[in-house]
Amino acid sequence: MSLVEINDTHDPDRRSWVATANEPDTDFPIQNLPLGVFSSGAGVARCGIAIGDCILDISAANSAGLFSGPAKDAAIAASGSQLNSLFALGNEAASALRKAVADLLTQGSKDEQAANACLVMAADCEMLLPAKIGSFTDFLCSDEHSKRMSPTGNLRQHYHSVPIAYHSRATTVRISGTPLRRPNGQYPGPDGEVTFGSEPAQDFELELGIFVGPGNDLGEPIGIETAADHLFGYGLLNDWSARAIQFWEGQPLGPFLGKSLMTTISPWIVTAEALAPFRMPARSRDPDAVPPAHLLDDDDQANGGLDIDLFAYWTTESMRENGAEPVTITRTNFRASYWTPAQMVAHHTSNGCNLEPGDLFGSGTVSGVERSSWACLAELSEKGTADISVGGEPRRYLEDGDEITFRGRATRDGFASIGFGECSGRILPASR
Ligand code: CA
Repeated sequence: MSLVEINDTHDPDRRSWVATANEPDTDFPIQNLPLGVFSSGAGVARCGIAIGDCILDISAANSAGLFSGPAKDAAIAASGSQLNSLFALGNEAASALRKAVADLLTQGSKDEQAANACLVMAADCEMLLPAKIGSFTDFLCSDEHSKRMSPTGNLRQHYHSVPIAYHSRATTVRISGTPLRRPNGQYPGPDGEVTFGSEPAQDFELELGIFVGPGNDLGEPIGIETAADHLFGYGLLNDWSARAIQFWEGQPLGPFLGKSLMTTISPWIVTAEALAPFRMPARSRDPDAVPPAHLLDDDDQANGGLDIDLFAYWTTESMRENGAEPVTITRTNFRASYWTPAQMVAHHTSNGCNLEPGDLFGSGTVSGVERSSWACLAELSEKGTADISVGGEPRRYLEDGDEITFRGRATRDGFASIGFGECSGRILPASR
């Protein structure tokens, strides 16, 4: 498998002349350099790279003559208002741009002055969707989540051989900060009568978002051995779930209106290369649960997992009024995933289905074994039967005014820790 390698862009001793990029708790040190789309004063959407509390305007840096060779080709692909053209060029192009930007932003760079003129303060910018998302697929990566959500408490036999997923709704993917209007829908009321009304069991799901790179032609599956070439980058994803609607409609075809209400993603795409130091082995399996051969590759088994800590924080309206600290409701790690991202790509295309640059995967709810790692409220409230204390207020699901924020962080000895920024959303009352 052709994984991007650890190289001198990951050197933990690299320091940036952007002082805030050198602070130990920043999400965006010079070893990260995630890609996103922003607009500042004039309101024109542009592609940028996060560094400390600033954004490097890629198009402006290219116009200033700061790139050459493959890095320039990549910068041109990222000079529009969306990142799809850069995704299409793949990880090698992204790597050339990363190397050039890392050198540009390193202390002692001869181009500091010219590059400094291409920086904007992130706080002065609005973040936008990073790409035109043509298709959105949501996987079911956690066996622990699947067991707890199953009516029987058991996994079905196919779970061990099929990375289960469904086609979700791309048009309702929104950027962090977009409020969620509580949906209306059908579900049985307490008396068993089916009613149409506001969702009583609004939930979140803490997931990793995965952006597809070049993709494939219809009828041409991507083999597991090259699947990593199509994993461009990662972000945080909240698969908002309306449980009453979902549980009522869900059989036999699966989720529809219970999931298509909205999905929130974080604005910054952390590239596969930035995550190279945080790769880890795939989940080990019992001998009777080994995946089929077309989903097995030695390199993917050895290095296809990702060690990423994921957090969900909860505030209520009264907590914010009182200045209370958010409650950490979930603390988990993507190592809980039963499948690697490469296995998701290989499985998704194994029937010939084509993926396109900018297609989005949700990993599935990243729930682990420990209760503190359960990554949605249907699990934490035991399907709405047990109270959860949020700053002293009892909850089973989300109330109007509640806000959920995800954060992510990758940490390993000997490397700079990198973060994912935020994926946040607040619940608004249902429309009548
Ligand atoms: Ca989900």
